[in-house]
Amino acid sequence: MSDIIRINILGPQGSGKGTQTKILAKKLNIPSISMGQMLRDEVSKKGVHAVTAKDHIDQGHLVPDNIIKDLLFKELCCKGYLDGYILDGFPRFLAQVDLLDKENRSPTHVIAILLSDDIAVERIIKRKKIAQEDSNIVERSDAVPEVIETRLRVYHEETEPVIEHYRKVGVLSEINGDQSIEDVEKDIAKIFNI
Ligand code: AMP
Repeated sequence: MSDIIRINILGPQGSGKGTQTKILAKKLNIPSISMGQMLRDEVSKKGVHAVTAKDHIDQGHLVPDNIIKDLLFKELCCKGYLDGYILDGFPRFLAQVDLLDKENRSPTHVIAILLSDDIAVERIIKRKKIAQEDSNIVERSDAVPEVIETRLRVYHEETEPVIEHYRKVGVLSEINGDQSIEDVEKDIAKIFNI
């Protein structure tokens, strides 16, 4: 058994998984990767996968696995990830669970931040309004009503079975996402006794 900590944070859009990933990574002093951000960066720097990635993100669909594999596993091979890491937004469906297992990267902890669809939609709309009023915040192209609906449907159909799988494996902690950022942070900290 190794002491390497591999955390995967899952949750619907608007659950605050990105924010909590950053907070926890700082507290545990380990790096983190946001799969969604990695893909958005690939689009903005016009990388080889930019066109396909943007097309899928803008429709709310999951980006094909060959792209995910190429970006994620290339990054994970970097030295900085040897002592552990947090993955935000991965795995999103069962085939990606197998991918992690095959690469000997099965999570030691999975945190699911749960939120009802109504609150998720409310938060994304609020976030969009803030981005429109603040020129320093990039407005996301997938924060439009039809795409939000598709992303939530994909979450229920594809990602909830992943959460269920990790419950059975015994590595899952479920957190109520309908709380303040500070309270979610406290609940997550309890898992690691920090
Ligand atoms: P997020 O920032 O986590 O909301 O992700 C934004 C978008 O990136 C998603 O709607 C998908 O199009 C894509 N994406 C993020 N993570 C994955 C993943 N693990 N597999 C496939 N596509 C992903």
